[in-house]
Parts: sequence; C-alpha cells; structure tokens
Amino acid sequence: MRLHRTTPQRTAPSLILLHADVVRESQDAVRRAPAIEVGGKFVGFVIDPAEAVSNPDGLVGQYSAWISSRRPTAGVALVILGSIPSGPKARATATSLIPDTGFQLASFRELEGRFPEIEHLGSWHSHHPNGLGSFSAGDHAHYSSAVADPNFNLDFFLAGLCFDQRGLSSGIFALYRRESPDVPVQIGPREVFVVDGLASLAAPIRETSASRVSDQPGDTPVVAAVAAELQRRLGSWADRLVEDDAVSWIYRGWGKGNLDIVITHGSASPESAGMSLRRRGGGIDLSCDAAGPIRDLARLVRAIDSAAAISAQISSHRSGGTRGGEK
Ligand SMILES: [Zn+2]
Repeated sequence: MRLHRTTPQRTAPSLILLHADVVRESQDAVRRAPAIEVGGKFVGFVIDPAEAVSNPDGLVGQYSAWISSRRPTAGVALVILGSIPSGPKARATATSLIPDTGFQLASFRELEGRFPEIEHLGSWHSHHPNGLGSFSAGDHAHYSSAVADPNFNLDFFLAGLCFDQRGLSSGIFALYRRESPDVPVQIGPREVFVVDGLASLAAPIRETSASRVSDQPGDTPVVAAVAAELQRRLGSWADRLVEDDAVSWIYRGWGKGNLDIVITHGSASPESAGMSLRRRGGGIDLSCDAAGPIRDLARLVRAIDSAAAISAQISSHRSGGTRGGEK
C-alpha cells in the first residue's frame, strides 16, 4: 500500500499474532451483514527480533516484549492489530466484495502518521453468504498479484477467510510470498495465535474512519427534521460510529437523561435511515425506519417521549424507585 519501499526485504514470518479485536470485528461484520460478503485490510507490525526497538513504550515495543517473554525462539512475527473497513463506497454482493480503495488508502496514510512502523499485512473477507469453503480462483489471483506488485511494501501477504459468525476465530489463512506468488502456504487457525489484553489499533482505526466520512445524519427530509429536533433538545450529536456497512450518530440524554438516540445510515441503502432509542445499560426500547411508516415528525417525537417515560418508570421500579416521594 505504499508507493516507495521504505523497509528492507524481510524473511517470511514464523509467528502470526492476531489481536482479539480483529476477530471480534470479523464476527460483528458477519452478524451485521448476513447477505453480503464483508472484509477488511489487515494492518499491524512486522517485528523482527534482530532489529532494535526505538520506542519500548510504543505498540511495537509492547509486542516485542510480549513475544520475547512468551515466544523467545520466534523469528520474524507478523502482528495483526487492526482491520481497516471496506469503506463507505465498497460494493458487495453475496459473492464479491470490492472495497473502497480510496478510503482504505487515506485511512492507512493517516494511521501511518500516528504509527510510523505500521504495515499493510494482508486482508480478510467472508464467504458466509455463499458457502464457498475455500479461497476462490479470483481471490487467489488477487492475492498473488498483490504480493508480486513491486509497490507492495512487504514480501508476504496474509489472506484470511471466514465462513460464519465465528469470524476469523474459525477461519483459514494463507500466506502469499513474493518469491513464489502462485504457491501460497496454507496456515491453519491454530497456527494463528490470538492475543487479547494488549492494545490494538481498533480505536485509532475507528477515529480515522470517522474523520473520512463527512455525511451528516439528516440526509433525507424526515431524518433531517428529526436531527434538527434532536439538536434543538440535546445539542449536537455526541458520537459518530463508522462501521463497514453503516454510519451512526448518537445523541445522548433524552428523557430523564438516561436515553440515547441513535440514527443509522446503512451504506447499502443510504436513502433511508434507521432510528433507535437505547436505555443506558442495555435494551433497545424503540426502533424504526425513518423511510418506513413513521413519516410525521411530531408523532415520532411523541412516540420517543412516551417510550422515554415508560423506560424511566421501568428503571425507577428496578432501582427501588421513588417510594415515599423524591428526597
Ligand atoms: Zn472470496
């Protein structure tokens, strides 16, 4: 993913670490999109025990220390700490996935500014909508040409494939090498060591993705009116979440302050939006499709208010309530 080679040729890795956040992202992505292929670009670090670590407190330093204490005989390690989503303009069907490469490259560049040693290590996708039990001929052609491309920064490329909601925890992997791009090395799931409890790149990738999507919540007349009403009553949105297939805006503090309202636009149908009302600590109390039956803003706001009132009653009952009056 770079235009110029900046690191020396590397020997193939003998240890592959996969952060549990990436496994969870693959599981969530499959769950959210049952009918289309999902995937992402693997990013992380190549850690060579023969090279000095410039910053022991940085991410590379933390993983170097982890490897030298747990796997002291390991050679070069490939440490996958994040997955850059396919992006808002990705095109996906039940049998194909064409990522938004502009989005992925811009995200990578921004991450590189924060983590100079970051590398594009490979990619993963899912065959859950089509049941194809191995990499397709098209997948194979794509990966072998990716690793053979002189602009690709490494001499190897890890491809991951998953099949169901277990995501990459039960997936298969293949390592493509520049020295023989057509002959991938098959790697079983047990040869990929899942690490948890150390930092990952999940949060920086989410922040980067959010900064790349400038859409506003109200892109249809109904949602624009709802967003204006939310802004009037709650102020501007507090959080924006960008996922593979949807963007959500979260407004906090409806009702007696314990309810959040989430507006979601799916990239598969950007002309419609969903809304949900969530009580802090769990439970979705109301959700609707803004392109669906609720077209009247006043009715919608009344519905939210009554759901908020019911929700407040339920939580006051649960917490022992206001027996004997307030105070
Ligand atoms: Zn495939």
